Amino acid sequence: MDIADSLVSAPTRAWIPKHVQITRAAQDQPHTAEIIRRCEAAGVDDILLLPGDRLTGLRGDSERETYARAKSTLAVVVAPPSALKPQPIPPSADWRIDLARGCPAHCQYCYLAGSLTGPPVTRVYANLDQVLAGVGTHAGRGTVTSGTVERGHEGTTFEMSCYTDPLGIERVTGSLAAAIARVGSGEFGDDVQLRFTTKFDDVGELLTLDHRGRTRVRFSVNSTEVAHRFEGGTARMPARLTAMGAMARAGYPVGLTIAPIMPIGDWRAGYGALLDDVAATLAGVGDVDLTAEIITHRFTPASKEVLLGWYPNTRLEMDEESRTEKRSKFGGVKFVYPKATMTEMRTWFTTELERRLPGARLLYWT
Ligand code: SF4
Repeated sequence: MDIADSLVSAPTRAWIPKHVQITRAAQDQPHTAEIIRRCEAAGVDDILLLPGDRLTGLRGDSERETYARAKSTLAVVVAPPSALKPQPIPPSADWRIDLARGCPAHCQYCYLAGSLTGPPVTRVYANLDQVLAGVGTHAGRGTVTSGTVERGHEGTTFEMSCYTDPLGIERVTGSLAAAIARVGSGEFGDDVQLRFTTKFDDVGELLTLDHRGRTRVRFSVNSTEVAHRFEGGTARMPARLTAMGAMARAGYPVGLTIAPIMPIGDWRAGYGALLDDVAATLAGVGDVDLTAEIITHRFTPASKEVLLGWYPNTRLEMDEESRTEKRSKFGGVKFVYPKATMTEMRTWFTTELERRLPGARLLYWT
């Protein structure tokens, strides 16, 4: 690989927190020194070493203030034991491991809204060694990719973006680069693969890592209309695609997380343009390993309530009446598009993906 060929211009969006709080327990962790170094290099001057493990001062006088303060705060904490055990995460990967919980972006449909409680502060885990130990203990196990006919060649897979956008916080954490380099080095064997999805474009440092193809980066993409309307604080769509091209040229397996799909406006034209832009971005890149994951928009009663608190003026449609209620086996409720709409979108996407991006492997539609 020619690194010079792969270099991408400066990121268009890099999150720098205004406030950093480091819990007492996190202060003893080796990775914390790297986080502090990165925060200082990024110009953060409010770095607070807490006397205990409770975060302080996150709540403002109004919900708006609390939201703004939390979204501009990075907390450096120690992941509790419950967060260290890899959990199955179908249909994406065999296992989930978490480098952090929370995300500084402002997507009005954010899928984290229903699953994280309290002010939406980003908590990065300082005990990175313990988080990554799960890759070692679970290598060779799992049912989504490990040992399967369709995806067995991916090895045992570990999803890192269930509760955060790891690239969005990488400038001030370094956790993603460390994970990619350690898995690349073969520390956990040859047959494991990390994966993450992102709406950011700050890939410059990742291009230079000896990743050995053991990390798949998927870019979370959407029609211009959806991205523009609902995805605040993220890199714009063209910048994400430029970053994807650079990562593909640097030899990373890449992917598209087309999500959340919304049938608004002339959606066929919007998503058609997106697929064409991806094809143009990857044209001429040899041997691209490209996957696609397609996820329709859905919401739960809890996520709707939280999102309307955060974004009271949103134009996001969350109307139970025009949706179909789906119950999980644990009794949870989510609202998805009606069957006819789902069928129409699925047919269009599978046909057009094959026609416009014939090299892409569709992993799942949901
Ligand atoms: Fe939520 Fe992802 Fe947007 Fe972050 S980038 S706010 S995790 S949807």
